[in-house]
Amino acid sequence: MPYEGKIEIRWDPLTGLTSRIVHVPIKKISRFNYDNAIKVSLDAKCPFCPKNIGSMTSKFDKDFYGYDRVEKDEVTIIPNLLTFDKYCLIAIISKEHFVDMKTLVKNNYIFKGIKALLDVLKIIKARDEEVKYFSINCNYMPMSGSSILHPHIQAIAGEYPTNYHRITLKKSKDFFTLHKRVFWETLIEEEAKIGERFISTIGTTYWYIPFAPKGNIDIGCIFEKNSILELEENDLLDFNKGLNKALIFLDNEDVSGFNLSIFSGIYGENYFRVNMRMVARRFLPPLNAADSNYFDKIHMENACLFLPEDVSNNIRALW
Ligand SMILES: [Zn+2]
Repeated sequence: MPYEGKIEIRWDPLTGLTSRIVHVPIKKISRFNYDNAIKVSLDAKCPFCPKNIGSMTSKFDKDFYGYDRVEKDEVTIIPNLLTFDKYCLIAIISKEHFVDMKTLVKNNYIFKGIKALLDVLKIIKARDEEVKYFSINCNYMPMSGSSILHPHIQAIAGEYPTNYHRITLKKSKDFFTLHKRVFWETLIEEEAKIGERFISTIGTTYWYIPFAPKGNIDIGCIFEKNSILELEENDLLDFNKGLNKALIFLDNEDVSGFNLSIFSGIYGENYFRVNMRMVARRFLPPLNAADSNYFDKIHMENACLFLPEDVSNNIRALW
């Protein structure tokens, strides 16, 4: 019997970038076993474990920041030695070397990390007016590209945005000029009306599954504020509630890693809304192959096997 494959090509409503969704029956991938990764990473001496932080990580310039080390809510913030941007921060979000997703949820580690990072980003904003582009990011576990097992999140701030950040800012500005409306608010309205990918609103945060996903299981959140520097305690608490549900969903699906980015609009402007994307990451059996390949690495194309509307239905069931 000849086989006819089915592929759906979707255009992102803001950027116009395409995603291809391949319609195939999905086989569940079993949960990753971390035993060996924990052993190997401890043998190699972990720089983020409390006993090593002092000797193995760098300190801030006291003249600029006012301190050389930041400790808040058990989070330690250090400058990243890998300087991907003008300012590159790491928040070590737990004292424990290995934290599974359930513990990440239970202890609200990401929420505490974001709060501590925002304090430092506000200092950078006040001292360096050249810096316009801010984002908070996370690679959780080796399948997501993280080379250190010990849980941490990161922030970058600089004078030049990354490609995706630049495109979304530019397109949001174009949309505002043309329609006199904020794209992100229009998106929320339209998605709520259609109801196929909308998950829920939690206080000041809006949760949905993006129409053109960036990978297998892509979860989105839109805030009410334009800049991450404007986020207040209640915005972060609302975000944390949704994030914890999203993490529980990924854990239920036996997904062991993810990438997460929170993008900020330019401070003082009003055509953007702070928004987050988190994408599930997995090693593919039997070779533990990466789930990133020539499509996204070279073609700038996202390929995935999960239908966003199915993901949305499944996540709504636990929300
Ligand atoms: Zn460690």
